[in-house]
Amino acid sequence: MKKTANILVLPGDGIGQEVMRQGLRVLTKASEIFQFDLSIEEDLIHGSAWKKFGTFCRDETVEIAKNSDGVLVGAVGQAGNENLPHSSDPEENDGLMRLRKELDVFAGLRPAIVNDALLDELPYRREVSNGVDIMVLREMCGGVMFAKPRGIEVLSTTEKRGYDTAAYTTFEIKRLAKVGFLLAGRRKKRVVSVDKSNVMESGFLWREVVQSVGDEFPDIELEHMYADNCSYQLAVNPSQFDVIISNNLFGDIISDQAGSLAGSLGMLPSASLPCLPNIGETCTAGIYEPVHGTAPDISGKNIANPVGMILSIALFIEYGLGGVEESAIVAKAVESTIANGIRTKDIGGQASSETITDAIISEISCV
Ligand code: NAD
Repeated sequence: MKKTANILVLPGDGIGQEVMRQGLRVLTKASEIFQFDLSIEEDLIHGSAWKKFGTFCRDETVEIAKNSDGVLVGAVGQAGNENLPHSSDPEENDGLMRLRKELDVFAGLRPAIVNDALLDELPYRREVSNGVDIMVLREMCGGVMFAKPRGIEVLSTTEKRGYDTAAYTTFEIKRLAKVGFLLAGRRKKRVVSVDKSNVMESGFLWREVVQSVGDEFPDIELEHMYADNCSYQLAVNPSQFDVIISNNLFGDIISDQAGSLAGSLGMLPSASLPCLPNIGETCTAGIYEPVHGTAPDISGKNIANPVGMILSIALFIEYGLGGVEESAIVAKAVESTIANGIRTKDIGGQASSETITDAIISEISCV
């Protein structure tokens, strides 16, 4: 495991700042226990960057990110009722989208695990959700969220036309699929690839390319599933899934849906990586962030669930620092805390963001 962690911290907006505060407390404790040094630079992104610098993501921020072991992000977006400017270029319009593109972190690992202690809090029968452990692998740098042309054109005084382009190249699909099969090889050896190949050309190519990569991994079972059916299957039979490979848009939706299995959107971590390192090895300049957004409805109340952020830090320890066992200890501390009944409101408790973090820190300290 690396002995120094060079980290760029971007708390972002709304509850992003609140969960980051708690996450950094856990990271500091982890650095003491696992004996690595922290070298942290903090910067602004998106709404907070716009207010101070008039841009959503500065060039300097991108440079620091490229030279880091990892970038920790809280969440970006609307923090309240402010009106942020809008551009049709996603990299201009959203600081985080620019950062993802610049760092080329195409592989979005979004694990969703059912915590036994939360089985009675879930909107599913016990027998449906028991034991679910899914890795959603979302493509992060392409597809309809980035491809051009896109825009809003004026057709007449009363009519406009908004349009986007759903497009993927063989290269983009292949590199994601390869990560998916490698991940499945470390898990239950099953991949479900999600597309709409029945109605979309980009989906037709997606299926063809994923199948060709799958042919190189004969020990991994591959199933192709239409995105709408995948959404249905996640609700009725989530245990069938191990690794789900999907494009940027479907992955965004499916990973939020998987949050309902983890107990709350606030429970879900992510690691967006430029490559998948071998177990125990590292990759630099990944982005580690909870799946959730800025949650304007609960911002400023100290009730945001910091677990998604804390588990994202665990993913950073695993992939950014090479600390596989150390990462598992942080995840285990989260599990024990929840099993001990210390929970934020979204997962059926009354604990503040701070209280649940205190408990997680003391669990880590018991190691
Ligand atoms: P959201 O994820 O912010 O909130 C959805 C729901 O989940 C809300 O009810 C919220 O209270 C709840 N929730 C989310 N995180 C929680 C947590 N940690 N603890 C407890 N409850 C939590 O999604 P939204 O309301 O659709 O979007 C709000 C803003 O966030 C928008 O500006 C959007 O663009 C942005 N957004 C950013 C990201 C990101 O930074 N990666 C992701 C999604 C949305």
